[in-house]
Amino acid sequence: MAELIVKTFYDNLKNGKLMGLKCPKCGTHSFPPKGTCNKCGNPDLTWVQMSGEGKINIYSVLNYPGGEFQAVAPYAFGLVKMKEGPVYYTMVKGVDLDDPWKGNMKLPVDATAKVEKIGTKNVVVFYAKK
Ligand SMILES: [Zn+2]
Repeated sequence: MAELIVKTFYDNLKNGKLMGLKCPKCGTHSFPPKGTCNKCGNPDLTWVQMSGEGKINIYSVLNYPGGEFQAVAPYAFGLVKMKEGPVYYTMVKGVDLDDPWKGNMKLPVDATAKVEKIGTKNVVVFYAKK
């Protein structure tokens, strides 16, 4: 079951779709999707399209990432609180890469997700709204 969830998640990303799982009992969303509800343990979840809206709460800059990500370094990696509730740690763009600690940017900042191909991977990238 878990393998199927991971495959479905990545197959949808390939098509630019952000799919999560929603618990029909308590309404909790999971993203990336997990096999059972975090809140009530219900294993009977429904696929739903995520809005792709969220807020970047914090971020840091990666200068020397591994593998395929070296080609796009430096880039920012941030903690995004999605509108539906899940907290997702992923690549963020539109933020100040020079120094996340300068405080030029007021956080949290609203952001919208886009799926981007980096090397062979489909990555969920959150763009800060200006
Ligand atoms: Zn639940």
